[in-house]
Amino acid sequence: MSSPVNDLLESNTGRIDARDKLLINCNQVDVNQLMPLKYHWAWEHYNNGCANHWMPTEVPMTKDIETWKSDKLTDDERLVIMRNLGFFATAESLVGNNLVLAIFRHVTNAECRQYLLRQAFEEAIHSHTFLYVVESLGLDEGEVFNMYREIPSIAAKDEFEMELTAEVLDPDFSTSTFEGCQALLKNLIGFYLIMEGIFFYSGFVMVLSFHRRNLMTGIGEQFQYILRDETIHLNFGLDLINGIKAENPELWTEQFQQEMIDRVRKSVELEIDYAKDCLPNGVMGLNGDLFREYVQYVADRRLERIGLPAQYGSSNPFPWMSETMDLAKEKNFFETRVTEYQSGAALSWDD
Ligand code: MN
Ligand code: FE
Repeated sequence: MSSPVNDLLESNTGRIDARDKLLINCNQVDVNQLMPLKYHWAWEHYNNGCANHWMPTEVPMTKDIETWKSDKLTDDERLVIMRNLGFFATAESLVGNNLVLAIFRHVTNAECRQYLLRQAFEEAIHSHTFLYVVESLGLDEGEVFNMYREIPSIAAKDEFEMELTAEVLDPDFSTSTFEGCQALLKNLIGFYLIMEGIFFYSGFVMVLSFHRRNLMTGIGEQFQYILRDETIHLNFGLDLINGIKAENPELWTEQFQQEMIDRVRKSVELEIDYAKDCLPNGVMGLNGDLFREYVQYVADRRLERIGLPAQYGSSNPFPWMSETMDLAKEKNFFETRVTEYQSGAALSWDD
């Protein structure tokens, strides 16, 4: 007699051998079983993500509110802040939605799914950050959260990403074909390498430049935590992309490689347009030309990580960004933490 329990019992074809676990199209192994682990890098990224846990509401905004209400900031400086909030406020949701709706079901490895669940929560925390900033500074939420539809340079970046989500969400999409697998790989490169690895970085430079001048330090600190999270998202994504390449080398054709290089080159132009749009007159020693250098430098580093040739040979005009990233890594968040998370021992069941 067929029942769900009997089906489950009869599906027993022996225990999992870690060697059989595949990143995509794994039909022979039960994806409900985390152990035995095969891809230890996925588990490490998961643990690193958990070790970095933070909440935006733990960062005091008093000084930022004071600065925002004062005449310390020029109109150009306010534009930089607003355009950055406008991009990130919805970008985090685009990443979260792509993760949960498009990527998750096609990644068939349990330890990678464990990481994806953690990452999805981090994207929610990042979206929460922008809600918290908008509320703290008393900004117009409609203005900030609609910039991705109303500001052309932001819309262009987001459109470039949303097309990739739509492709995987098509009811006919499947990774059982060669084209389907390449489309999934293109989505992963589009979101991890381009969105989180290139499109986020001029924003990080701009906001952290304020922080270096001791202005808008609450937002600056939040961006440091986001940057720290994004570094892990990027590293996980690159490991996943390289892992899928290694499992399915036939996907990595000359033509596909060239398409990916072209997409990265296109994204560099979109990012430079966006940076110019944030800095029409140049502020704090920042201007469009420096961002051209920087975005090209970042894109070269990303391409190299997936085995594609650097395209530009530009040098890094913001060497302090690497120091900031190391500082964010080393920063002992627990020293300044105001909220203690409830541990098992602190939970009370009495009331
Ligand atoms: Mn994020
Ligand atoms: Fe992310």
